[in-house]
Amino acid sequence: MSHVSLSVCSTYEANRVRDAVGECLGCLPAARTLLRPGARVIVKPNLINARPPDTAICTHPAVVRAVAEWACAAGCQVTIADEPGYALLARAEPLFARAGISQACEDLPVRYELLRMGGYVVASVPNPLRLAEVRVSAALRDADVVINLPKCKTHGQTLLTGAIKNLFGGVAPRERIQIHGLGGFEGLSEAIVDAFACQRPQLTVMDAIVAMEGNGPTRGRPRPLGLVAASGDAVALDAVMEHLAGFEPGEVRVTAAAGRQGLGECNLTRVQVDGYDIRRAHVPLERPPGLIRHGMPRWVGRVVSRHLWVRPAFDAARCVGCGACAAICPGGAIDMNGTARVNYDRCIECFCCQEVCPADAIDSRESLLARVVVGSSRRVTGRGSADPRR
Ligand code: SF4
Ligand code: SF4
Repeated sequence: MSHVSLSVCSTYEANRVRDAVGECLGCLPAARTLLRPGARVIVKPNLINARPPDTAICTHPAVVRAVAEWACAAGCQVTIADEPGYALLARAEPLFARAGISQACEDLPVRYELLRMGGYVVASVPNPLRLAEVRVSAALRDADVVINLPKCKTHGQTLLTGAIKNLFGGVAPRERIQIHGLGGFEGLSEAIVDAFACQRPQLTVMDAIVAMEGNGPTRGRPRPLGLVAASGDAVALDAVMEHLAGFEPGEVRVTAAAGRQGLGECNLTRVQVDGYDIRRAHVPLERPPGLIRHGMPRWVGRVVSRHLWVRPAFDAARCVGCGACAAICPGGAIDMNGTARVNYDRCIECFCCQEVCPADAIDSRESLLARVVVGSSRRVTGRGSADPRR
């Protein structure tokens, strides 16, 4: 039986978040036994891009602060680290400052690092699905404790991004780009699980106080869920949040594949949830546009792709010509000529370009058939929840 603890928290006010995080971690025996004096701890938020807290793109600084404070109070040596990758940021300071984290933690004895500074090591994937080996962060592998801090968001390729997907940020940036070119959502999902198998966190604390719905992980809408969730089992935590967000069991392939691989528990009948009655609470998130091709056999996808597509749409007026999208594009589909231009014949609809664009110049566009077919399934069917506290 796996355990997931949930705490209601409707604001990012520091004291309330500290209480909620403390309530969640206090329920987990691993949080008390692993976080001991001298332990080298890496706190790994989701900093997909250097964005301010109100965008709901990154893990909120108040959550990062509360977790770092907990670990510092236990006498641990704490490093806050991530790697947005794609080479736009050469130093850690601007990333953590723009995300509001260095300000939130300014009085704590913590260090900040880009994961690439510690280098990458080749890890063999046990029982691989897609990748026999993967280059992962040496810092994450060498830490005594990794505390994973995902943000709860919808995601065009994986439907939801949470605890498992956040560890994909520990893969070497160039390899991440290649993995997006593997082909199809299934290939990406399985590669994410392979990467997770090589770098499993000891603890996960998810920021679901304000989640993101719709066109995530960077262009969706902030959506208050009012929750902090924690577990020693990242797979179980994702399974619980998917249920709350309105996804069917097995619908999010990353979680289902991780469960099948024995990396955690995805069957909710074998997950004990503390602090919240998930049978009575539902907070469905609007689904991402990429939903359209999920569950569709690849040969069907190929046949209908001329009429059924969701593509990146570039806004030349917003583009600042930084070239980040061209640098990351696994299909080599973007040419720079002052501003970015895309060749749709080479585009594999991975939306990596959208994730890295610092100017919000890349939106998504759906074909007419896509709007008709997928429109009803994206609609939100309910907004609230019964009183979920136990
Ligand atoms: S243009 Fe964007 S969506 Fe298309 S392949 Fe390149 S990065 Fe992916
Ligand atoms: S579309 Fe965005 S990422 Fe690409 S060059 Fe323009 S501003 Fe940079």
